[in-house]
Amino acid sequence: MNNINYLSFNKYPKLYPQSIITLGWLTDLDNLRINPLSLCYGMGKSYGDVCLNEGGTIFDITNLNHIIDFDEKNGIIKCEAGITLDKILEFVVPKGWFLPVTPGTKFITLGGAVANDVHGKNHHTAGTFGSHVTEIELLRSDNITYKCTKNENRELFCATIGGLGLTGLIKSVEFGLIPIETPFMYVENIKFDNLDAFFDLNEESEKLFPYTVSWVDCTTKGKKMGRGIYMRGRHATKSEVNKSFEMKEGAIPFPIEARFINNFTVKTFNKLYYSKQLSKISTQIVPFEPYFYPLDMINGWEKAYGKNGFLQHQFVLPYDNCKKNMQQIFEIIVNSGMSSFLTVLKSFGDAKSPGMLSFPKKGITLAIDYRMEGNKTLELLNKIDKLVSKNNGRLYPGKDARMSREHFHQFYPNFGEFQSYKDSNFSSSFYRRIK
Ligand SMILES: Cc1cc2nc3c(=O)[nH]c(=O)nc-3n(C[C@H](O)[C@H](O)[C@H](O)COP(=O)(O)OP(=O)(O)OC[C@H]3O[C@@H](n4cnc5c(N)ncnc54)[C@H](O)[C@@H]3O)c2cc1C
Repeated sequence: MNNINYLSFNKYPKLYPQSIITLGWLTDLDNLRINPLSLCYGMGKSYGDVCLNEGGTIFDITNLNHIIDFDEKNGIIKCEAGITLDKILEFVVPKGWFLPVTPGTKFITLGGAVANDVHGKNHHTAGTFGSHVTEIELLRSDNITYKCTKNENRELFCATIGGLGLTGLIKSVEFGLIPIETPFMYVENIKFDNLDAFFDLNEESEKLFPYTVSWVDCTTKGKKMGRGIYMRGRHATKSEVNKSFEMKEGAIPFPIEARFINNFTVKTFNKLYYSKQLSKISTQIVPFEPYFYPLDMINGWEKAYGKNGFLQHQFVLPYDNCKKNMQQIFEIIVNSGMSSFLTVLKSFGDAKSPGMLSFPKKGITLAIDYRMEGNKTLELLNKIDKLVSKNNGRLYPGKDARMSREHFHQFYPNFGEFQSYKDSNFSSSFYRRIK
């Protein structure tokens, strides 16, 4: 592997480290010299520069991928931090356990899940991944490994959850799993006509289902603005699976045929996808993979954005005046004609993460892809950021390559406190941009 392989998922920005150190065994860490400008790199599935370290050293930790301990009775697992969620699922699902929280791809490391304190479709019932972590072993540049729990080194524990890789090298993580009866999901897909209808459906669905997410069409104006498909689900029971197993395709769409993305293909796709489901509601039992990880099934989809890459922009707006504020942002996006296939709306609940810099807060979050078209794209996002800031929302650092320093400090008021737990030899391109 050379430096070129150490970019982030969206291939923007293109910032390269000076050196890469691949760690193979926990014992490699015993005498590891952690010089200034060091950063860990997991699977590089962040969108932006939190995993980039221009001119610095990258520790590739993906070979530290072993399961250390598993309490099968209580569903508690401890693993080295370079293991992927995919490998954990492979081990625990046949034993009747599942991840407490999972993002939209299973090809991320446990260290990455903690450092970005990832959220999933069940945020309104389960909070973030970090809320389920019971212990972190953290190697700092003083060569001491700190055991961090809610009671021991508590501040370091809270700073490391959502700490963007800046508090040290996470060696291992222990966390709690949730029990499942089957590896299948019961899913209801419901079409909704506009943003208003989304808010009504979301209020009802959050009370009924542990997992909710919506795909929205960001290309249609007028009364149909914000129309989409709401996907709500839960782990299926044995009797449901025995009764009616019907294999269905993934829940979040992407045009497999797309070789390139432009305004025409985006508009056509959105129209076709919305019309594809004929009935208002469709109910299905599906394996867990297409429900949680539809994009993992489409190899290399991100390359359709071309060599300049793309940006993913994810923000959350609190519930106060949320409908009106979201409407205003939608108008800007739709009128720009620059949105893409993958626009996801989802609500966050009020579960508070222990993480000092965690992104989720109660409200509605929108995640949307934009092809990188230079200033045109950056100006659009700056305009949206201003509204997010004015309405007390915030942006997700794990999916950011360009938010301003001022906005970051406003969005993350705990940053000052966080700085006292940051390891002075760890840094990233993101950190140097926003500090
Ligand atoms: C298709 C897709 C869907 C996604 N869906 C979601 C979603 O639903 N919710 C969500 O929250 N995110 C989502 N993400 C983002 C992704 O889950 C996060 O960016 C995750 O942190 C990536 O993990 P990684 O192993 O690839 O880490 P990297 O991207 O390599 O690194 C991320 C951060 O973790 C730090 N890090 C990694 N390992 C360690 C370690 N051992 N010690 C210290 N620091 C470490 C890095 O320094 C960096 O700051 C999605 C990404 C993709 C590509």
